[in-house]
Amino acid sequence: MSLLEVEGLSARHGLLNAVREMSFSVADQQVVAIVGANGAGKTTLLRTIAGAHPAAGGTITFDGLDITRMPAHRRVREGIALVPEGRRLFSELTVEENLRVAGRRARPGPWNVGSVLDAFPMLTPLRDRRAANLSGGQQQVTAIARALMTNPRLLIVDEVSLGLSPTAVDTVYAGLGRLRDAGATLILVEQDLRRALSFAGHVLCVLEGRVVLAVPAGDLTREQVTEAYFGLQ
Ligand code: ATP
Repeated sequence: MSLLEVEGLSARHGLLNAVREMSFSVADQQVVAIVGANGAGKTTLLRTIAGAHPAAGGTITFDGLDITRMPAHRRVREGIALVPEGRRLFSELTVEENLRVAGRRARPGPWNVGSVLDAFPMLTPLRDRRAANLSGGQQQVTAIARALMTNPRLLIVDEVSLGLSPTAVDTVYAGLGRLRDAGATLILVEQDLRRALSFAGHVLCVLEGRVVLAVPAGDLTREQVTEAYFGLQ
């Protein structure tokens, strides 16, 4: 059975249909990259799955439970964690304080400050630094680490590499790679097609609010994704 099942999902911004009857599923331990041009509806989709934006139609089922109308905080307790676009760390709090805040109402599980710092060793020397004083890459790793503190069964990361230097992108993907290899279920929005295709097992291409391609990454050429990306098919 799929861990996440999205069926006919729609979401709006006023009159704009940002997500139009999208259907797809994500199996346990699957890594899915969502790609698509600016404004395709990726962020709205992720926020709707996480409960930060209301669904206008369709259903979202998580581990057999209909969560379509469940409030966001309860979805966190069910095991859905979203690293939002822009990271949204508490900028005046330190790295460790950011982690602790997220861990306060965590589900039971393997992640705590110690295990998170073990998994992301680059954060250990930064644990007392304020989030505002971190580089973009350090902030992204902290945001991912913070999401892990809730002990998610599904980790969703929006715009993984946006605005990061190539070195920072490598650092962030090194961390995500360790999670993937440990069997995490991941949904990533990634602008960089090369990264998306090499990292994820599956790619979901979104165009104008619709899923236009959902295939194993290995079956795809970059050209096919580019065509779907720009609606050239
Ligand atoms: P990006 O890569 O630019 O974030 P995206 O694929 O994540 O793009 P969304 O941010 O989900 O796309 O936006 C989908 C559509 O909804 C776009 O047309 C966008 O302009 C519109 N939209 C997004 N947020 C809002 C909002 N708060 N109010 C009105 N329209 C919005």
